[in-house]
Amino acid sequence: MQKGVNPDMKWNLSGLLVGLFAVNTAYAAVDCAQVRARYQCMASEYYPLHLSFDDGPALQTSDVLNVLKREKISATFFVIGEKIDCEKIQQTQCTQGETNCQALKECHDREQIMQRAAREGHTIGSHGYYHVRHSELDPNTMRQYVKMAMDVSEPFLNTNPPLFRLPYGDGWFNRDKQPQVLNALRDYGFQHLAWEMSSFDWDEKNQAGDKIISNVMEQMCSRRKGGTVLFHDGMDKSMHQGRVFTTQHLAEWIPIMRCVADFKPLSHFEPEIRKR
Ligand SMILES: [Zn+2]
Repeated sequence: MQKGVNPDMKWNLSGLLVGLFAVNTAYAAVDCAQVRARYQCMASEYYPLHLSFDDGPALQTSDVLNVLKREKISATFFVIGEKIDCEKIQQTQCTQGETNCQALKECHDREQIMQRAAREGHTIGSHGYYHVRHSELDPNTMRQYVKMAMDVSEPFLNTNPPLFRLPYGDGWFNRDKQPQVLNALRDYGFQHLAWEMSSFDWDEKNQAGDKIISNVMEQMCSRRKGGTVLFHDGMDKSMHQGRVFTTQHLAEWIPIMRCVADFKPLSHFEPEIRKR
């Protein structure tokens, strides 16, 4: 039986959640038989699933960490370099230091959130220094950005080899035509890590009701396999703002995913990538 499930509670036709008691505890009672029926999942099949979060760190990453801690799930975070480049923020926006400079204070908050993520057993990789399409940059600029990503993220990267996930998957999906991007990653010691399923949580039209969790469940149950699923804890265009719909609803989605998913750390899928 799932944690927090009360079998006596009745199914609520309007959604997958039968009860949501308190925002901070977010115990959701889920009828897994109903979930499996809704998404046409095979009876009693479970798929290994790894959660990954792009575009952070953001203030709301703390909310994600709280949920993952409670649920004992180890995830991977791909972070944007400029969001943790506090030295640059200090030089460009906050020459007087942290006092009276919100941007620098927030940057240090983001650093602490990353330190907490590492401490709590999560994997941290780079999502580039800037959230740009790397194949569209001139090769020298692109290589420079990859180097900057390595330089600023290095204290947080906790695998060997260090991981990189290209923004938009650009340079990965089109690697046959644009091999220079993966070549640059390799030259700086990165290994690229893509995803098998996307929640499409970045798309505003999905940020309502249960569209995002339905995307994940439908992919998992139609393919009849798990893998790494892509969510977002941050926003590419905002330094401190998270994908609020995702960060606020993750606690409700996990019990639904658990109906068919067996959450696994990255090492389950990538045994050759060692934690460091
Ligand atoms: Zn991204």
